[in-house]
Amino acid sequence: MSKDASSQRMEKIVSLCKRRGFIFQSSEIYGGLNGFWDYGPLGAELKRNLRDTWWNAMMRERDDVVPLDASIILHPAVWKASGHVDTFSDPMVDCLLTKARFRADQVEPQSGTACHFTGAKAGDHASERAFSVLIRKGENIERARKVARTFYAEAFPAGTAPEAIELLGETLEEGIVNSKQFNPANGSLLTEPRPFNLMLRTHTGPIESDDNVAYLRPETAQAIFVQFKNIFDSNRVKVPFGIAQIGKAFRNEINPRNFTFRSREFEQMELEFFIRPDEAIALLYGSVAEWHEGADLSKPQPNWGWEMWHRYWVAQRTAYYDGIGLGTDVLDYYWQKPDELAHYARATVDILFKFAFGTEELEGIAARGDFDLRQHQKHSGKPLEVFDEELKAACAAMTEADREAFIDATFARRTNPDVTRGEVAAFCANLFKGNYLPHVIEPSAGLDRLALAVLSAAFDEESVTDDKGKSETRTVMRFHPRVAPVKVAVFPLLKNKPELVAQAREIVESLRRHMNVFYDESGAIGRRYRRQDEAGTPFCVTVDFDTVGENGPENAGTVTLRHRDSMKQERIAIADLKAWLLERIA
Ligand code: ATP
Repeated sequence: MSKDASSQRMEKIVSLCKRRGFIFQSSEIYGGLNGFWDYGPLGAELKRNLRDTWWNAMMRERDDVVPLDASIILHPAVWKASGHVDTFSDPMVDCLLTKARFRADQVEPQSGTACHFTGAKAGDHASERAFSVLIRKGENIERARKVARTFYAEAFPAGTAPEAIELLGETLEEGIVNSKQFNPANGSLLTEPRPFNLMLRTHTGPIESDDNVAYLRPETAQAIFVQFKNIFDSNRVKVPFGIAQIGKAFRNEINPRNFTFRSREFEQMELEFFIRPDEAIALLYGSVAEWHEGADLSKPQPNWGWEMWHRYWVAQRTAYYDGIGLGTDVLDYYWQKPDELAHYARATVDILFKFAFGTEELEGIAARGDFDLRQHQKHSGKPLEVFDEELKAACAAMTEADREAFIDATFARRTNPDVTRGEVAAFCANLFKGNYLPHVIEPSAGLDRLALAVLSAAFDEESVTDDKGKSETRTVMRFHPRVAPVKVAVFPLLKNKPELVAQAREIVESLRRHMNVFYDESGAIGRRYRRQDEAGTPFCVTVDFDTVGENGPENAGTVTLRHRDSMKQERIAIADLKAWLLERIA
């Protein structure tokens, strides 16, 4: 799709979202708040359905994952231990002219000739501050000078006319190619990049001081690590098992953009799946199953190490997306290269969605080793290891020589060259007693990004011909019935026929407890269908004169069922309707 077509498509999606009440700008009547969004009636239902599909797939349909619902504000020490206080930052640059702020890595590269100035003077006042403007193709030097005068005017007394400013030390530097040092909007020089911590700060208690600074969580995952031991001790869980959580997260993003894609408040759906370290698997089963192309990932096996588990979760998540209508035609994968990985990560794959504005991350699946639990164990001083009875039993029969050989082999395979043999021996001695810190695989998805992906994939326009032969554009949201905000709309053919209305209302009542039903009696039936197409309602049911037996007994007790995607209509008995619908939305 061309850039123009893509941005037009995105504009149409954004406008439909507002028009039909999927998504509104937060506080819109006050001008909106950048990076914050509200979900209207259809959006709230869509999001809820997506949340439920994730919850079901990750927990209800398995017996090895338990949920957590933790607070948004955690002890600030959590964020120190996790590394967020020190390193959760993006490089930021400011436009010297307008003070607009950008993420340095997201500045669009510019080419042209740089026009440098060493300073400026106006009357008795002078500024020795250097400034530069990029002259791009089609622009002239006068424009650069005008921008520079506006910049220097700031340094002079209010009211200094830009024309009264004399620019000093002008030089030209040709051949600037793909530079990220200039503001694409006006050519002004940007500041050098500096780190900007993305955590939103607040204070707890009545006094605002440095002693009671707190952070709105930038991710839901840390609470899972912090509560890991409580959950392990209070539930009948055994490694491997997972803890999952859905909840709000906050990041003070420098440039929220692309509609809801990068927001400052959003919802995450995260699973921390705890597994035995590979060394424990080797002790228990003699070896660790190795991943290879075509490996069977359908059912977890006891001898899986982190790599098989990681691949398994990628496959599980792919199947999940497929089940809600996001197939491999709209998804892509990015396996981070070894030099891109966080220092603790063994592998990370990003599941990407082909958004109209580009192919971007929907979910990250990382194999994080025992980094997080180890950090929290160290910083809190509380032991977070688990005791594994089976492992202890498996090691009981090992001779001293077996143990030494195992330590040697573990030391030889170390990935961190700084680790000493003594440290490896201590780690192994702990393992022999059945103790270890579990390793973790983390599938981490964003609910708002998923909603945007589902809205984007569902949006379609097609040309249709009406009964009178007139062609028109039909806008239709082709949501998978499982996630569609409204599952079925029920209409009486005419609103002034009490028997049709009564029958339609009765159908609504019989379905209401099982699914989201919408009743509509106003306007021509064709218009009502179109409204539901835009809402993405997969099925519409119309109660007509056949239903109430006015055209004879043949079709009495049946309704017209209209399919959103094909627009085909069929008759179905009211008595069969509920089961028919439930089968398709489950
Ligand atoms: P990005 O590189 O896009 O900033 P990230 O790699 O920092 O994302 P993670 O920390 O891995 O993201 O967060 C996990 C998921 O949370 C992401 O895959 C995304 O779906 C979601 N997410 C992260 N930041 C935002 C945001 N600002 N707005 C909406 N969703 C977000």
